[in-house]
Amino acid sequence: MLGKYKPLWGPKPRLKSSYDAVIIGGGLHGLATAYFLARDHGMTDVAVLEKRFIGYGGAGRNTAIVRANQRTQQNVPLYKEGLELWPILTKELDYNLMFFNCGNLNLLHSEAAMNSARMSIATAQFHGVESHLIDAKQCKEMMPALNISPDITYPILGAMYHPPGGILRHDAVVWGLAKGAAKHGVHIHQQTAVTGIGVENGKIVSVDTEQGKINTPRVLLSAGGYSAAISHEMLGIELPISVLTIQAMVTQPLKPILDHVISSGAYHVYANQTLKGEIATGAHMDPWPNYTTQTTGYYIKHQAQALAEMLPCLRGVKFMRHWAGLADMTPDMAPIMDGNDTIEGYYMNCGWGYFGFKSCNATGKYMAQYMANGNCPDMLRPFNLRRFEHHRLMGETAALMSYSPDN
Ligand SMILES: Cc1cc2nc3c(=O)[nH]c(=O)nc-3n(C[C@H](O)[C@H](O)[C@H](O)COP(=O)(O)OP(=O)(O)OC[C@H]3O[C@@H](n4cnc5c(N)ncnc54)[C@H](O)[C@@H]3O)c2cc1C
Repeated sequence: MLGKYKPLWGPKPRLKSSYDAVIIGGGLHGLATAYFLARDHGMTDVAVLEKRFIGYGGAGRNTAIVRANQRTQQNVPLYKEGLELWPILTKELDYNLMFFNCGNLNLLHSEAAMNSARMSIATAQFHGVESHLIDAKQCKEMMPALNISPDITYPILGAMYHPPGGILRHDAVVWGLAKGAAKHGVHIHQQTAVTGIGVENGKIVSVDTEQGKINTPRVLLSAGGYSAAISHEMLGIELPISVLTIQAMVTQPLKPILDHVISSGAYHVYANQTLKGEIATGAHMDPWPNYTTQTTGYYIKHQAQALAEMLPCLRGVKFMRHWAGLADMTPDMAPIMDGNDTIEGYYMNCGWGYFGFKSCNATGKYMAQYMANGNCPDMLRPFNLRRFEHHRLMGETAALMSYSPDN
């Protein structure tokens, strides 16, 4: 029976000895770039090489939240385009990505956090992204289950309300993009780890895989939590990325109680109700760099306590599953999207931390443009690697810190 199994993205292709482009990693960014290379640039001789199975990394582990109200003017336009693209892609890929436009409430617990949100809202509105400040009473009207009592650890003063955001089904995005890419002729090779990258005279010439050598003039590194290690070990290029574990869990399915995605920097909690009725929730990252994907009792207890304070109706509800994934964090919490000045044909798209689901579609479109014609699109220019060398870090970290309880 299993022998007849054929994935949604077609039969297993034969691994060729050369491709026009090789993409390392069958995650969100690798698959999206492959899709747009084929769709927009006629580059169909492309291989996506995935060491395990597509969606094995953060792509299949995230809590599926999408939004465009990032903090900085460099980030907002990219995330805005990503958000607008999801409904279009659902039609175009002929695959239901299950976009649920429920809106996001970033809960705020101090006057400093309210002021910081005002700055984010101004940036968002300047770029045409809907985002408003609302007070605690309005939060309660929008979400009756919310506890706005002053007697909780971090009383809720208000929220940054972002109506265009929501959730999508993460597996569907992986499968939909794979289906779309394969339909245009892209080869997706699972169980094919890249073990080396060949460079001659300053140019990319090949990749080594567990299945043999592949000649290629272009390589995209989009291996999520493993990107920094690959870059260091295979090319000697150090990336300013720390790899941290991030944990998530879901409760038993419940009748609808959460009409919006909620997040709280103070409690370090975000939560949404999936279309199946489960409350999917995640926390902050483990505080030390590591490559494990283990969950800990500490975080499960933390989530339970925080959720029970903010949403008392969840007391007694059971967690059904918990899991963890890797977050590849840069010092400014913005990704690295770049070609390399010294190695022709080498491209990077990594350092997405825990934000990489939202705009993988738009990012894939621009990375494909970059790889196809060699010119960095304006949208991607601020995300170059050299910003760290030149101390031109972006302010995304500031946003996260300023919503936290100490501010
Ligand atoms: C628990 C959790 C919750 C999250 N929640 C959200 C959220 O709500 N919203 C949001 O926007 N983002 C969220 N994220 C972040 C998001 O999932 C990631 O930023 C995103 O998956 C990054 O995509 P990627 O394509 O760069 O990497 P990945 O999706 O991790 O894909 C990389 C792939 O590369 C493969 N690979 C590694 N090494 C090799 C090799 N040598 N050869 C071949 N293949 C290789 C891996 O197996 C993997 O499949 C969350 C992440 C986690 C872990």
